[in-house]
Amino acid sequence: MAQRPFEPLPRAIFFDLDDTLCDYAAARRSRLRYAFSLGTDGQPIARPGVDLERMIAESIAMHPHGVDHFEALFARHGRLDPGEARAASDWYRTNRFHDLDLFPEADAVLRAVRRAQTPGPSGHERAIGIITNGPAEVQRAKFERLGLAELVDFVIISGEFGAAKPDRAVFEEALRRSGATAEDAIFVGDAPEFDIAGAQGAGIRSVWVNRDGVAWASPSAPPCRVIRRIEELPPLVGSDIGAPSAFVATRRAQATVTNEGSTDG
Ligand SMILES: [Mg+2]
Repeated sequence: MAQRPFEPLPRAIFFDLDDTLCDYAAARRSRLRYAFSLGTDGQPIARPGVDLERMIAESIAMHPHGVDHFEALFARHGRLDPGEARAASDWYRTNRFHDLDLFPEADAVLRAVRRAQTPGPSGHERAIGIITNGPAEVQRAKFERLGLAELVDFVIISGEFGAAKPDRAVFEEALRRSGATAEDAIFVGDAPEFDIAGAQGAGIRSVWVNRDGVAWASPSAPPCRVIRRIEELPPLVGSDIGAPSAFVATRRAQATVTNEGSTDG
């Protein structure tokens, strides 16, 4: 069922980054898959009898971000040579952004929602910002690599700012940078406790990106709107996305060229 547009329409829109604008979950699986396929010499080798997908799922369930568990995990799957876990760790640490990209529709959505029918607080366009939790160096490099600088007005990185979602201080900083009041803004994110509860704590209306279509299970109040994909956002904020398929085709073609030309995989 179509959801009603926000009323009043927002004059500033803030987004979470990982798993909202970029497909961090898919990239993490791809990165683990490659790391786990390496031999002691750091080259990929065929591994009949090793259930890579199960190793990946267990790795994510145990330690979403680190490599300290690799050796124990490998041993549990019969890979007893510690050189393999070491090769996997080395490659994993030095290829942090392997296969990481924006969701195919993200570029078009960001451009579309910027063109508001209501002008933003400090001009004719809407203020668009990103609020992301994580280390300064990593998230800053990710922001640059994904080409987000030309698509948004600002990014607030918890590691740089000194407070993290759901602390209301980061949401208030986004309001300050956009020149908007809390009533003027909405926040779009995938994590109930950090994104949705955090925005609500700052009095900002929220959109939950629920890609897996799961039930709302957080103790905090439910979000104002729920979407499965961010391409459902423009109609909720009075913006027109145009023909998303054309944007997606362009983005994929660009990504192919970039990958072929890159030297770090
Ligand atoms: Mg997220």
